Amino acid sequence: MSIISDSLKRIKPSPTIAVTQKARELRAAGKDVIGLGAGEPDFDTPDNIKDAAIQAIKDGDTKYTAVDGTPALKKAIVEKFKRENNLDYTIDQVSVGTGGKQVLYNTFMATLNKGDEVIIPAPFWVSYPDMVLLAGGKPKIVKCDEKDGFKLTAKKLEKAISKKTKWLILNSPSNPTGAGYTKDEIENLAKVLIKNKKVHILSDDIYEHITYDNFNFFTIAQISKLKDRTLTMNGVSKSYAMTGWRIGYAAGPKDIIKAIGKIQSQSTSNPSSVSQAAAVEALNGLQDFIQERSNAFKERRDFVVKSLNNIKGISCLTPNGAFYVFPSCKGLLNKKTKLKTDNDFVQKLLEKKNVAVVQGSAFGLDGYFRISYATSMENLQKAMDRIKSFCENLS
Ligand code: PLP
Repeated sequence: MSIISDSLKRIKPSPTIAVTQKARELRAAGKDVIGLGAGEPDFDTPDNIKDAAIQAIKDGDTKYTAVDGTPALKKAIVEKFKRENNLDYTIDQVSVGTGGKQVLYNTFMATLNKGDEVIIPAPFWVSYPDMVLLAGGKPKIVKCDEKDGFKLTAKKLEKAISKKTKWLILNSPSNPTGAGYTKDEIENLAKVLIKNKKVHILSDDIYEHITYDNFNFFTIAQISKLKDRTLTMNGVSKSYAMTGWRIGYAAGPKDIIKAIGKIQSQSTSNPSSVSQAAAVEALNGLQDFIQERSNAFKERRDFVVKSLNNIKGISCLTPNGAFYVFPSCKGLLNKKTKLKTDNDFVQKLLEKKNVAVVQGSAFGLDGYFRISYATSMENLQKAMDRIKSFCENLS
């Protein structure tokens, strides 16, 4: 009999972390690898946030805190939702966890019974289906077409809903495509959801602050008829370049928030006290650098999209947020190139040109790959030259 549980056998390690690890290993072995797999800003955490953490240590904020967040951080989160999203929450409608990832994990653990379905539009962030599986639920993957900007349509949503649907996950701007839902698009989905009263909505807004071209961020909890069944997840990892600090949060119905806290009380307890103090400063402090950094990301996005579209066999949409692009490599999957799948494409690219990207199939959509452009322009220039040379010398 295996020591490993059946529930663990249902899942696989994160493919994006695997690619990053592989690139790290190749680099350690002396290879000149350019890693475009990582999902984190290359910028440093701003100094005011670091200083707040140092001050918290000096002040002795080094003990256990309330399991689901300090009152100071919850207050800062309540104010953030009011200020940025015009959403009213009370302190007991907020939960803080060790990264958005833990908040999502706890949510599924706390709410899914065996066989409950979770609608996950594809391409999706790699962790959603596995978290659902681990919690005993059933991921219902709905493939979204490139012609729809990789976004879920009301028609597809309606078709996917069944009696067993417990959650719909929305992630805007999206990892891996960078696609952001406009207010109109969210309102169209909302029409379907208002009719289907049992479906809860999990809105993953972690890339809220990384948007371009005057994109107007809108989150589904702003639709008043849906607010009572929407859990909005967000965090400081991406917007404030704080991936290592591990602070994420959610706001929504009290019963769900309480259940999330219950799981946390029997697993990790509170997120790091020092990181929470830093997150208070992130949310309450100056926000100017967010725009500055978005401008830098935009310059890289424009360069990457243009470069990719200049390569024969590759085509790439222009995303309105996050720091990813999701180009198609379908034009290169044929007998002549001897590449059959997106997986072949990324393996060969790494082998021949030392560029690490992630295959689209890891995100639920074959024939594509994901590039994270959260790296220097110099790296991106080198990477684009190598990808071009790789693609043009395939046959
Ligand atoms: N949601 C999405 C779409 C992400 O891309 C990530 C991180 O890669 C997370 C949630 C979790 O972020 P964290 O746990 O760092 O808050």
